[in-house]
Amino acid sequence: MSSFCRILFVFDRNLRLDNNSLLKACLDRCKDRCCEVMFLYVWDEEYLWPHGYNAFQANFLQDALARLRNQLQWFDANLLVTKGDRLEIIRKLIDDGDYRKVFMESSLSPHEEGDYRKIEVRLQELNGTLVSDLGNWLYPKGVVKSKQGGVFKKYSPFMKACEKLFEEDLQQFKDHFFAAEHLPWSAIRAVHEIGFGYLPMEIDSLGLDDFYVWNDEMLESYKEFRDFPWREKGTSMMGAYLRFGVVSIKRLAVEAWGKSRTMWNELVWREFFAHWYAAFPETAIENFDHRFDMMKWENDVHLWEKWIEGKTGYLMIDAGITSLVKSGYIHNRVRMVVASFLCKDLHMDWRKGEAFFARYLIDYDPASNVGNWQWVAGCGVDAAPYFRIFNPELQQDKFDANKIYAYRWLPVDYQVNKMLDHGVEKVVAMKLYDDLKREWEYNKG
Ligand SMILES: Cc1cc2nc3c(=O)[nH]c(=O)nc-3n(C[C@H](O)[C@H](O)[C@H](O)COP(=O)(O)OP(=O)(O)OC[C@H]3O[C@@H](n4cnc5c(N)ncnc54)[C@H](O)[C@@H]3O)c2cc1C
Repeated sequence: MSSFCRILFVFDRNLRLDNNSLLKACLDRCKDRCCEVMFLYVWDEEYLWPHGYNAFQANFLQDALARLRNQLQWFDANLLVTKGDRLEIIRKLIDDGDYRKVFMESSLSPHEEGDYRKIEVRLQELNGTLVSDLGNWLYPKGVVKSKQGGVFKKYSPFMKACEKLFEEDLQQFKDHFFAAEHLPWSAIRAVHEIGFGYLPMEIDSLGLDDFYVWNDEMLESYKEFRDFPWREKGTSMMGAYLRFGVVSIKRLAVEAWGKSRTMWNELVWREFFAHWYAAFPETAIENFDHRFDMMKWENDVHLWEKWIEGKTGYLMIDAGITSLVKSGYIHNRVRMVVASFLCKDLHMDWRKGEAFFARYLIDYDPASNVGNWQWVAGCGVDAAPYFRIFNPELQQDKFDANKIYAYRWLPVDYQVNKMLDHGVEKVVAMKLYDDLKREWEYNKG
């Protein structure tokens, strides 16, 4: 055995032991020396939820952390969880706790990457070492690039470029999947207290059942069933598991590649928005298409309340919002319809809807949420044109004809009392858009 070594291992978006290559790198490094490792997760609500506390996601995260801790304890290790300012706590441990070797994920999410860079700089100043691996995405920033070396602004060429890379990497991905029990756990001694006055956060398992549907049957029927919200197992429900890396995106992408290319394409949409958001972090609050800066959004509290209370009188909208606030989940098709209704029938700013979703979605992720909201509103990357307006009644007839989804969520005494006429609002939306284009052309001239 050679020198003694103290390691700080920070969990973030890969809350699992299997197929966690950063963890593998850490334990491999410990093989021939005596290592003391602190496995840490910092529960930082500002870091997690920029739009305010999200109870559904908090419960999911708590359960995921409890499971992770149990798995670590199985290997005589431990997970220390504390609450507070993540960056400050990690810095304090480096400065005062004398941790000079840190294993930490890099991120495609801009504010997370910002923290990562600060830690990197601090460790450089102290002659320490930062070992990193990307959070739960397929490719780091800059790897999927256009022929000119830039960021893709269209999904199709991005997907084609991913396809090429993925084909090349497929075998390598497969070769690197591993189970946690094959790691050299005996090489480490786990730390059981953070110290420095940091109190452990109570993390109790909530005993939540896994709700994802990832099996051959789902993958085989995904292409056919994915658009019908009334089908209970039509989609994978994997969003939250991917957000927190309870499952590896690489493992799912490899399975999807062989079994459902439609599913693989959806996983690549996630990747597309993440790379776009990493390149244009200002789109968290700014329109990607700046013509929309001149849009005259409606700001009527009464209209807004009807939407968030699920009282618009349109079945699919009201059922979707009810499912979101009651369960933290809303089907993708219904997300598109409710978002379109907010922006194009109520003429409200996508940012209001984005913030609302952020407080309820169990799979909330800034890149996917901002990307999709801007996509629906028409101002985002590779966005649906503003004049593509979902008709909530046609969507209802086409995707939930027997109203199974609608009445799964709506109260029994639900009244169909439409708050407005979709046909009329569609004309208003088109006019708003035409005005916008004219104003833009005029200002350019
Ligand atoms: C307005 C709006 C807001 C959204 N906000 C989020 C969000 O905050 N977080 C989030 O993960 N997804 C978001 N989505 C995308 C999509 O609706 C969800 O990923 C999907 O419904 C999750 O359910 P699932 O896991 O059963 O999906 P599946 O259909 O089983 O898809 C599997 C996985 O592919 C990815 N995926 C599928 N569609 C998309 C998409 N359009 N964009 C990005 N990734 C996708 C997700 O990781 C998903 O879990 C949003 C969509 C809209 C229209």
